[in-house]
Amino acid sequence: MSYPVYRVFRSGLIPLGGALLLWGCSAGPDFVAKDEPWRKQEEIACIASGAVRETQYIRSRTALGGPSEFCGAERPFEMAATSDGLVGLQPSAFVACPMIPKINDWVASVVEPAARRHLGAALLELRVAASYSCRAMNGVSGAKLSEHGHANAIDISAFKLADGHVITVKGGWNGDPGEQAFLRDVRAGSCRDFTTVLGPGADAYHGDHFHLDLARHGRDGQQHICH
Ligand SMILES: [Zn+2]
Repeated sequence: MSYPVYRVFRSGLIPLGGALLLWGCSAGPDFVAKDEPWRKQEEIACIASGAVRETQYIRSRTALGGPSEFCGAERPFEMAATSDGLVGLQPSAFVACPMIPKINDWVASVVEPAARRHLGAALLELRVAASYSCRAMNGVSGAKLSEHGHANAIDISAFKLADGHVITVKGGWNGDPGEQAFLRDVRAGSCRDFTTVLGPGADAYHGDHFHLDLARHGRDGQQHICH
């Protein structure tokens, strides 16, 4: 099945207060956007299922601003915490419905147990390096639109524990043994909930965070890519 491929360009020059601001790279962020109906179908099914309900930590947002009609989600949510508010997302993440149960399950079944097992403390906070962002993959001009552009991805750069200990992906990956074990368990466990998992060593772009998304891979869309 082939999809039409669109190439989207945006002007990089925006006059503001007499100054010229460069937004993104000088050529303007451009990406190749495919029409992939599965994303919208999964989002609508998720909303209809009632799997995500609004709470004081999860709020529906009517729209996500973006420079392109290809970016955004049907009904995005702003997620400020998981685990019934016990684990904060800092800053809060803008994600589509299917991401929310996955993040909840990942934190409860992978991250929290790993924090207690390897570092002896409860998880308090996830540091969110990126969530919704209308951009090409890895910020590379001309690449495919990132899952971030569909609110279908999240980047986590650090984990804060209840005892104040902060484990960064960048520093902890080769840090003390407890941090190393924690981060490796978190990364390995991520592949059950997410279909794309990238981190240190995967490529030049993921040395300081874990990228988690719900892209479809392979002929049947069921493959997982976990590096
Ligand atoms: Zn990412």
